Amino acid sequence: MKIWLDGGLQDIESARVSVLDHGLTVGDGIFETVKAVDGVPFALTRHLDRLTRSARGLGLPAPDLDEVRRACTAVLRADPMPLGRLRITYTGGHGPLGSDRGEHGPTLVVAVGETTRRPDSTAVITVPWTRNERGALTGLKTTSYAENVVALARAHEHGASEALFANTVGQLCEGTGSNVFVVLDGEIHTPPLASGCLAGITRRLVVEWTGARETDLPMDVLDRAEEVFLTSTLRDVQAVHRVDGRERPGAPGPVTAKAMRIFDERSGADLDP
Ligand code: PLP
Repeated sequence: MKIWLDGGLQDIESARVSVLDHGLTVGDGIFETVKAVDGVPFALTRHLDRLTRSARGLGLPAPDLDEVRRACTAVLRADPMPLGRLRITYTGGHGPLGSDRGEHGPTLVVAVGETTRRPDSTAVITVPWTRNERGALTGLKTTSYAENVVALARAHEHGASEALFANTVGQLCEGTGSNVFVVLDGEIHTPPLASGCLAGITRRLVVEWTGARETDLPMDVLDRAEEVFLTSTLRDVQAVHRVDGRERPGAPGPVTAKAMRIFDERSGADLDP
């Protein structure tokens, strides 16, 4: 396998970054996960826009988007696969032991791995930990993901594939790596960005393509909603058939099934929507 590092392709086994890279020592980095269908990245322009926004939010120099595009093309050509997940990581780079950034400049790594299409429906849990809707990192896709790692492990312990967070005022926010939607009176709703959720690219496309509304939602909406579904780059649109052990029979329901169909058709017709 090849990865992109220091401006070119390298063998993954021998590629090295500094052990004092701030991505490693203090979680000072940002990333994107991009789906690649038959070697073509999906929605790359939107992902690169978000990468730039995340860099700005962290005070990192703007990434060289031409290099990122070249890197994506290069790793996909080096290891062809039907369904891949590109991982673009951009960190503060080699620095001192503390939290101050060094002089060295950022590290860019682009890797690709094979993935498979996710099942049409899944189980989720809710977790007692909260998303901070007003933090310095809110809305940025940073590599500071340990809280998500802990919550996802809790989900797996309960036979679920995702854990959903409330924000600090008790409203439904998002999953560890997905956005959440509910169907109420036949209409699709998702928490607004002010809830503290990530501006998911799949979320945005579903809002644009289905007319879903952005609404503040209490956590108990998960019990009241006719249907619940998740969105993310690797899940696309995925129905929820169990929440905290309570079954939701019939998932995917008709509204979710329609959203899945619309997403498949539109995303298949335009790889950079
Ligand atoms: N929320 C979080 C915290 C995420 O990490 C992700 C994706 O990794 C998402 C939502 C979904 O975003 P996207 O649709 O851009 O993959």
